[in-house]
Amino acid sequence: MLRVTYLSRESDPFTAQALVDLLEHCKRNNPTLGVTGMLMYANGTFLQTLEGETGTVETLLGRIERDSRHRDFQVIKREAVQDRLYENWSMGFERLTQATLQDVPALKAFQLEDFNPEHLSAHPAVVENLLERHRSLHWDPLIREVNARDQFIDELRRALVNARQRNEQALLLIESVIEASAEDRLTDIHLQLCRRMVDTLRQR
Ligand code: FAD
Repeated sequence: MLRVTYLSRESDPFTAQALVDLLEHCKRNNPTLGVTGMLMYANGTFLQTLEGETGTVETLLGRIERDSRHRDFQVIKREAVQDRLYENWSMGFERLTQATLQDVPALKAFQLEDFNPEHLSAHPAVVENLLERHRSLHWDPLIREVNARDQFIDELRRALVNARQRNEQALLLIESVIEASAEDRLTDIHLQLCRRMVDTLRQR
């Protein structure tokens, strides 16, 4: 697998809508490609990390480099890796502000205006700290709690859908039994189906 980090500068100022469109595209496209990573943006500068199968990342990188919406594209880190660092993110995104940098001791001296290709390419340790900080946001206990709650709600939703389906099937079966009984054609099959339905309802 390959992990690549690059810097670039927007050609024209990105509006919030243009950023949303870009992220929507990444979130649609990257999972299909098996590409994960993150994109940081401030001062018209992009810092992006992409990781995935080597050939796929190289092809995507080529396409991104040719994108006329940005320029001064430069790869600052390229490494063959065994594991992903961003496995849960089709494209983590962050728009940096001075406030978001304040709490990071390693970035105390770093000013938002330093978030530009010249400064960042000359200071790999700052880049590492920024990436590390971005990843650690997702290790935050509060975020983990929110994720756990999302998972719980997903499970509840699935359970509700299953319960509704079972309900629907049971209703259908009861109706078919009533129908068959009214027409005096109740058979063993109906009884077997009823027993199986009772078992199913008891199991869950
Ligand atoms: P097409 O859709 O045929 O587009 C051709 C060109 O039109 C593009 O190169 C671009 O210059 C322009 N274009 C495309 N969409 C728009 C638009 N909404 N508004 C204005 N111009 C547009 N793509 C990914 O799949 N994954 C990524 O992680 C990813 N990261 C990116 C990071 C940055 C900073 C930028 C600027 C782009 C990124 N892209 C990403 C988008 C990528 O560069 C391509 O635009 C996209 O993959 C579509 O490629 P395509 O060859 O099908 O181009």
